[in-house]
Amino acid sequence: MKMLINGENYDKDEHKEILNPYNGKIVDTVPIANRNEVKKAVNAANQAKNSLTEMSARKVSEKLYDAFENLKNEKEEFAKIITQETGKPIKQSLGEMERSIDTLKLSAEESKRIYGETVPLDAGLGGKGFFAFTERIPLGVVAAITPFNYPVNLAIHKIAPAIAAKNTTVFKPSMQAPLAGLKMAEIIAQEFPKGVINTITGMGGEIGDALITNENINKISFTGSVATGLFIASRAGMKKITLELGGNDPLIVLDDADIKKAVKGAVNGAYLYSGQVCMGVKRIIVDNLIAEEFTDLLVKETQKLKIGNPMDENMDMGPLIDENAAINVEKTVDNAISDGAELLTGGKRKNTFYQPTVLDNVNMNMDVVSNETFGPIAPIIHVDGVEEAIKTANNTQYGLQAGVFTENMHNGLKCANEIEAGTVWINKQSTFRTDNMPFGGVKSSGVGKEGIKYAVHDMTKPKLIGFNLR
Ligand code: NAD
Repeated sequence: MKMLINGENYDKDEHKEILNPYNGKIVDTVPIANRNEVKKAVNAANQAKNSLTEMSARKVSEKLYDAFENLKNEKEEFAKIITQETGKPIKQSLGEMERSIDTLKLSAEESKRIYGETVPLDAGLGGKGFFAFTERIPLGVVAAITPFNYPVNLAIHKIAPAIAAKNTTVFKPSMQAPLAGLKMAEIIAQEFPKGVINTITGMGGEIGDALITNENINKISFTGSVATGLFIASRAGMKKITLELGGNDPLIVLDDADIKKAVKGAVNGAYLYSGQVCMGVKRIIVDNLIAEEFTDLLVKETQKLKIGNPMDENMDMGPLIDENAAINVEKTVDNAISDGAELLTGGKRKNTFYQPTVLDNVNMNMDVVSNETFGPIAPIIHVDGVEEAIKTANNTQYGLQAGVFTENMHNGLKCANEIEAGTVWINKQSTFRTDNMPFGGVKSSGVGKEGIKYAVHDMTKPKLIGFNLR
């Protein structure tokens, strides 16, 4: 794949090979850009601003709908690329594409709903006889920076609302899995004037920094790790930022829970895409009264999972993104076991694969739960009662989403009110999200919200226009 700068495909002599984590084969290559190419991409986006602001909202919406139709027609092809570059099981890649298409459609719809408001100036001192209203106007150029794990949908969550709000963009995908995202950006770009969408590939440290510090970037929309997010925040200066960062989401199972439903939630939440999901279930907090029944069933269901070639539609789990990622998970689990955690199933690595693993008797001092572990691990922490469950859930720097299983409305509401997270689901695990809901964490999990309506709002600014009628 090549980059896209000012409507032209742009290549370089130096390339990075993108490897299939399942078999180590080269899927494709991408150019390694430098700071000069970042400048070119941002200049192109800056110069294309008028071509978009001159377009009616109706036209922008029609073009986003056209892009939606085109992407829909290539859904299967895209799912294959996602699986080849990420190792994600094909049925989950297809799921990502279904959501991506929906995200694009939601953006086409939202582009027609950008409203300002009248402001009652006469409520303020000296305002009698004035009339004023606000318009929401585009910010300018949005830098969209994304991680490896949902390479199409997370990118559409930035590019599509940016355009819906008439901003131009420079998109930088992860160098671990850039291919499907780049192809998606080309499909949307075809519908718009040159320079409206530009893509740039290269090493995060070098070109990422050139992008976020460029004076013509007006907003940085970033999804990725806390460490990179903190660095970006420290370099962003006066630019607007949205940071969608890591998670350490709890799944609380209270003594009155429907155990079967809770186990299903735990299996889905802990092992989805081999646990490499920001809103994955990273800690299972179980009441002692039902811990044995819950754990036995969780082990049984974990052992039923099919692990292997992610292109095979019968597989539930494939490899991790690369061998280093699998080695990190191996070390974290081994450390937890030496610190007293009990291994109930799994616990073995082979190359890029790590088995789905249940660890019992985990406590919050262990790395496996005090940090974000990006692997297929279900760590069980025992508690007595709802108070201790909530206290344990909040004992982390993260606060993305949370899930609580209980048949007791009062306990459910108590958890909803007291858990520090962007979202609390009752009787659903944290991996659930629809693409129109406000999504984004508190504490170290981030700043700002995505979800199309909220992203569009964040990618515009209010301008007040007033009349002196006296
Ligand atoms: P990462 O932080 O390593 O990389 C994310 C992106 O940042 C990549 O495109 C990378 O090239 C770029 N980057 C790296 N250094 C940069 C710099 N100095 N300046 C600008 N850009 C730079 O994250 P990752 O390993 O790809 O993804 C995993 C992380 O992402 C996990 O922590 C996960 O929880 C988080 N995540 C969060 C969400 C969410 O919505 N909250 C969704 C998915 C993933």
